[in-house]
Amino acid sequence: MSKNDAYAALAARHGYKDSLRYRRILEYLMTPKQAEMVNLMPAKFVELAKKFRTDEADVKRQLEELYRKGVIFARSPEALEEASFALAVVQLHDITMCPLGLDIKRDKKLFELWDDFCVNEWDPDQVASWIKLDVPQGRVVPAYRSILDSPEILPCEDMRQIIKSARSIAVAHCTCRRRKESVGKKCKKSHDMVDIQFNIAAEYLIGNNAGKRLTAEEALALIDKCEEKGLIHTCENSTRMRPRWGMCNCCTDCCMVYEPIYRFKAPVTKCMAKSRYEARVNEELCTGCDMCIDWCPFSAIAMVNTDGLKEPKASIDVERCMGCGVCVLKCDFKALSMKLVRPPEHIPPA
Ligand code: SF4
Ligand code: SF4
Repeated sequence: MSKNDAYAALAARHGYKDSLRYRRILEYLMTPKQAEMVNLMPAKFVELAKKFRTDEADVKRQLEELYRKGVIFARSPEALEEASFALAVVQLHDITMCPLGLDIKRDKKLFELWDDFCVNEWDPDQVASWIKLDVPQGRVVPAYRSILDSPEILPCEDMRQIIKSARSIAVAHCTCRRRKESVGKKCKKSHDMVDIQFNIAAEYLIGNNAGKRLTAEEALALIDKCEEKGLIHTCENSTRMRPRWGMCNCCTDCCMVYEPIYRFKAPVTKCMAKSRYEARVNEELCTGCDMCIDWCPFSAIAMVNTDGLKEPKASIDVERCMGCGVCVLKCDFKALSMKLVRPPEHIPPA
């Protein structure tokens, strides 16, 4: 098969024309005929039927299949003549591994192909682009239960307000964890569905059997569960109340952002903005139990022998602290708290 075919043309749109690994993903997701159709989208059924010497019903059936897989996107399944190919790698990555009907054992091949491409090509490219950014694209949102006493919390950093402001909410599989699990990596923090999406994205996932609808109360209960597991609330770096990414609940061992950042030893703050808060230790309350050390996702806590104290106490490296607040919820002795250290302007306007 020629390399200058429909698959190559689609891969080129995402910047990976010569990538054999990306090509293999596209070949897994669509037949050669379907790849040609996708290249011509958006298009009328009648035009595609004529071009491919078939009937409109066959064209519609093929496009419905591609829509269900997350290869093409439209306002709704009824508007497939307006559909077009995924805009970028990230959209294809997130949606094609999301459907509830996928099984990481039965559909292992798809997840393996994605992981091979990500680990070897996409991750290094992403890290190289992130380190050139002037403003990080993502932002850590503090665990809401760690800042309950803060009088100056902004709506866009308050998980309760973010959830309550959404018209509709859905939860979906975290595709980063699904992908890593398929290649035998066990996430240390969670295997649950924790990717929260809002409004249009939520309706898309629910309509495409790729997400489950949640009430605001159910979403808040899920947020509580994420905070208990020590997951990091992460969203786009702006004051927008319904973040376009939705609300990720990340770990640093699977996440498509945090994991490669650490693997390539790049500065995490180039890609992810800290929250406006920082952790503080009350040495009088700290027993030195060291439960918070491994719990901190950013390795920002160490045990130190402070002058005059016999026992080591927890100490925060403020350079490393991202302000996620998960340590505060882990300390049974209430020795950790969050301090507001950055102005509202730290979060760029939407
Ligand atoms: S968990 Fe709390 S008590 Fe234990 S070391 Fe950390 S700060 Fe100190
Ligand atoms: S010390 Fe670690 S766990 Fe605590 S807020 Fe900072 S980054 Fe998060």
